[in-house]
Amino acid sequence: MERFDVVIVGAGPTGLACGIELARKGLRPVLVEKGCVVNSIYNYPTHMTFFTTPELLEIGDLPMTAMGEKPTRTEALKYYRRVAEHYALDIRQYQTVERIEGQDGDFLVRAADDRGCPQAFAAAKVILATGYYDRPNMMHVPGEHLPKVIHYYKEAHPYYNQDVLVVGAKNSAAIAALELHWSGARVTLVHRGEGISKSVKYWIKPNIENRIAAGEIKAYFRSRVLEIRPDSARLQTPEGEVTIGNDFVFAMTGYHPDFEFMERHGIEMDDSRARPVTDPETLESSRKGIYLAGCIVAGMATGEIFIENGRFHGGKIAEDIARKLV
Ligand SMILES: Cc1cc2nc3c(=O)[nH]c(=O)nc-3n(C[C@H](O)[C@H](O)[C@H](O)COP(=O)(O)OP(=O)(O)OC[C@H]3O[C@@H](n4cnc5c(N)ncnc54)[C@H](O)[C@@H]3O)c2cc1C
Repeated sequence: MERFDVVIVGAGPTGLACGIELARKGLRPVLVEKGCVVNSIYNYPTHMTFFTTPELLEIGDLPMTAMGEKPTRTEALKYYRRVAEHYALDIRQYQTVERIEGQDGDFLVRAADDRGCPQAFAAAKVILATGYYDRPNMMHVPGEHLPKVIHYYKEAHPYYNQDVLVVGAKNSAAIAALELHWSGARVTLVHRGEGISKSVKYWIKPNIENRIAAGEIKAYFRSRVLEIRPDSARLQTPEGEVTIGNDFVFAMTGYHPDFEFMERHGIEMDDSRARPVTDPETLESSRKGIYLAGCIVAGMATGEIFIENGRFHGGKIAEDIARKLV
């Protein structure tokens, strides 16, 4: 059995920052990651550009550079690989953490690798930095499980000359709708709100609104999906029910952290049941010895914590753990 001071679950930007800060305190962490390093970013749209300037994505005081004003996904992947290498972080890729046994000071973290072989790590403390990107918010409508319903937009090319429905009106939906339209898909957007979300970035919002005003992208606002069928979709609109021809649906309806995993491990939720309880000073959860880091801390409020601010969680947590262990 391998023994560490801390097991960090998830090697996203936050997990990496936690690993660096713990090592700086003289502690021995291991990162256990179900996919590759920064797996969520790897799964973002292939040609995406971050909304944030490079210095705000930096961790471990390593400078990040970008060809343009803002880094691309490819530049970010390269940067975080470099960070992992520079700090010689012990990262076990392709190992999914399934459960945590034991108690504060004496945890046993059980995982399975991608061949299904069990793995186990003993540690005094555990940090959950598992993000939210693995769990899409479902629409709970018939047909949602058809293979043509996609929760992760990668690139537009395969949808050329196809009827595509985009559900949602935030940044991801707006970008997907625009790229699909530019690539020759016939795009319809449906959203339950009054219009494109106010939170859409200022350089994207007028672009999508102008395409809608020009009739190039058809939009149904104050509307919702009723049913998805193999060759059509049924929508409830203010003018009544509408059935449109449809080949693909991009359900850009957001994502949520793994509440079930947290509850199963005795981590309490606040009264809204949408946000885990953490000590704001240390980020320790209600389960002693288990800390939460990164966007998981905000629960359903996924727009509250980004790389920009989540990267500082590592320092806070390392401070508390070092005080208790060193
Ligand atoms: C399209 C898009 C664009 C964005 N643009 C920006 C931006 O411009 N600026 C910005 O600051 N933020 C941006 N964000 C948000 C930002 O990417 C997230 O806030 C950030 O990735 C959160 O980091 P994290 O380490 O907390 O979680 P993640 O990056 O999601 O990392 C969590 C990791 O945990 C792993 N994991 C999950 N469960 C397990 C398990 N059971 N066992 C082992 N490993 C597990 C996952 O595979 C993943 O690698 C964007 C998000 C999206 C979706």
